[in-house]
Formats: sequence, structure tokens, C-alpha cells
Amino acid sequence: MLKVTHPFDALMDITARPPTVFVKGEGSYLWDDAGKRYLDFIQGWAVNCLGHAPAVMAEAIAAQARLLITPSPAYYNAASLKLAKALVDLSCFDQVFFANSGAEANEGAIKLARKYGTLRNGGAFEIITFAGGFHGRTLATMSASGKKAFEPLFEPKVPGFRKARLNDLASVKELINGNTVAVMLEPIQGEAGVWPTTDKFLQDLRALTKEHGLLLIVDEIQTGVGRTGKLFHYEHAGITPDIMTLGKGIGGGVPLAALLATEKASCFEHGDQGGTFNGNPLMCAVGLAVLEQVSEPAFLKAAADAGLFLEAELQKLAARHGLGEVRGRGLLLALDLKLPIGPAIVAQALDAGLLLNSPQPDALRFMPALNVTREEIAEMIGQLDTILTKCGAARRVP
Ligand code: PLP
Repeated sequence: MLKVTHPFDALMDITARPPTVFVKGEGSYLWDDAGKRYLDFIQGWAVNCLGHAPAVMAEAIAAQARLLITPSPAYYNAASLKLAKALVDLSCFDQVFFANSGAEANEGAIKLARKYGTLRNGGAFEIITFAGGFHGRTLATMSASGKKAFEPLFEPKVPGFRKARLNDLASVKELINGNTVAVMLEPIQGEAGVWPTTDKFLQDLRALTKEHGLLLIVDEIQTGVGRTGKLFHYEHAGITPDIMTLGKGIGGGVPLAALLATEKASCFEHGDQGGTFNGNPLMCAVGLAVLEQVSEPAFLKAAADAGLFLEAELQKLAARHGLGEVRGRGLLLALDLKLPIGPAIVAQALDAGLLLNSPQPDALRFMPALNVTREEIAEMIGQLDTILTKCGAARRVP
């Protein structure tokens, strides 16, 4: 038996983590067990759209926990009905299936597309996805992802995914054949380093998929729920996808995800889909409280404005330090560092009490709370400025 010598040892070692242990959060700040405060521009990986420990979530959790935690997914419950209705009212979709994680929602989207192929498209099952895409860590969603590091893992993969290139319609056209049932993509490839699709590409893709009778699936697990300044990213391009998945921000920090489909695409039959915790009232009540806040036009406008402010400040910082472009939308932005210094910057930022993410060695990703203030953005920029100055000095030393 493995001898546990340190509390960290009781957890499977699935990623390199710093030895910091967080014990408290409030808004844009986190505290570790030594009382050190950190400004958080990761926010649970674009999850905590209202920041850490918002009262509205704490109240929703406490109120629902006193009322009903779960009656079993074999029965309706009031909270999931309310949240489903709210999502349907706020989007172009007609029906919702709730899940517990983004990967599970995407797994559901893949199953739904295959079901649609079986029922309505002559058994078509292939889904065109994109190089660099990330859809989760179940076997099917890893297979759907276009992440290089996944390629040698857990073979054989789930078949039926062909990879096109982002913003390259011809590369999608080339892959369409009689077995194709859907095209699935992230409107902004987050994990790959924040690579946005153009609105034109999404519009052309919608037209192409319609022309070929294919479903268009948008994975809005990272871009949905206000992250890009609109409630859902597809609104920027003015398109109507057939299927959308949500995760991360929809629960504001609790495990909740959703699979949404138009009436045409919503074709699951009894026995096709389910799960013990899916649509449980505790998480759905929290999701409803979060959605009520985030979907307020004034909240979305403030988030979009904060995104523009952050973008402008990052551009100034890039100009000062000779860095590359700022890309992304709303409060999902990346700064191109031009050199593989991302991990070093992240480590120095942690020391300085700032949480940053480097999804690729040459990029930093910024995904603060959607209610982040200008003061907090200015504080982050100031800290990053100091770190970049030190890095620049270090780079000049032979
Ligand atoms: N899809 C996208 C676009 C994501 O960014 C992620 C997570 O980062 C996932 C799917 C997987 O979500 P989860 O980690 O909740 O399974």
C-alpha cells in the first residue's frame, strides 16, 4: 500500500500543482492557509462569473439545501424546470438536458448528434471537429478534441471525429462525406491559447452545415454565460446553432453543465441519456440564481466594458514590453508573449500574490470574474508590468 506521508499524497497526482492551499475566497481575491492574499484572474478556469463566494450563490445553496437536495432524476423537480425554462427563454434552443461537467454535456452532444444521424440522416455518425479544439476528458470528448498531447493517450480512441482547421471553411468542406452528421467547435478555442473564430467563419459554417443537412454544435462551455460580453457567444455572429453545451460559468463555481438543442435536434428517446445527479435541484437552484444576475442587460454591458478595458490595458502593456497581440473577446483574452516564458511568469505572479494562467508556453490567458472592477484590472496590470520588467531584465542578462 502507498504510504501517505503528506496530506498532498492522498490525492492522485494528475497535474503539477504549487504547494499553495486555498482556504477562502471573496470576489476577485483568494486567501491561502498562511493568510496570504491573491488577486485571481483564473477564477476556477473561467468558472466563477460572480467571483468567489458571492452572497447570491451562498443564499441559493442554503435555501435549496433546506428545501430539497435531490428527489432522484426519475422525477421532475421545481428548480430544474425553472432553470430549463430560463435557458430556453434566453436562447434559440427549445430543450435542455442538465449534466455535471462540461465533458459530460459534450458527451451528450455527441450522442445526440449520433442519435439524430440514426433517426434522421441515414445512420450518419461522423462529427467534424477542429485541430486545437478542447472538449473534455472523457474518452469520446478526448477523441473529439484536437489537442496534440491527447493523440497518443488511451488508444484506441472513439472513432468518427475528423479534424478541420479553424477559420478555414475549405478544410471543413473537404471532410464532409455521406457519414457526416455534425460539425462541432468552440467559438473561441480556450485551452489552445484563446484562438477566436471570426463571425464570418461562423456564419459561413452555419450556411454550409444547413446546405448539407448537418447539425452545428457550439461548445460554449468556456465562452457561454456572459464570458464574451454577450450571454452566449453565437449571438455575436447572429447565427442559430442546433446544439449548444454550457458548463463552467453556468454554475458560477458549482458542478453544473447543460446540453441545449433546438426542437429539430432534440431527439433522445427514453433510455438514451441520464445520470444520477443530472438536474439535481441543489445545483439547478444555484444555476438559476447565477443566470438571473448574469443575464441582466446592465450586468452584461458592464462585463463587456470590463473586457474592453482589460484588452486596452493589455495592449498598452504589450507595446511597453515589445510583446505580441492581444486576442479573444470580452473577458476571455490572451496576451501573446512571443517567447515561451508563460510558465515562468505564472510562477513569479503566484509568488507576488497574483493568479494567472498560461494555456500555452508563449501565452497568458485572462479570465477574471465577470464583475471584476477597473481597480482590480489596474492592480493586475501593475503587478504583471513589474514581473515583465523583471523578466525583460533577466532576458537581457547573457
Ligand atoms: N469544453 C471546453 C471548451 C472547455 O474549455 C472545457 C474545460 O476546460 C470542457 C469542454 C470540459 O469541461 P469540464 O472540465 O467541466 O469537463
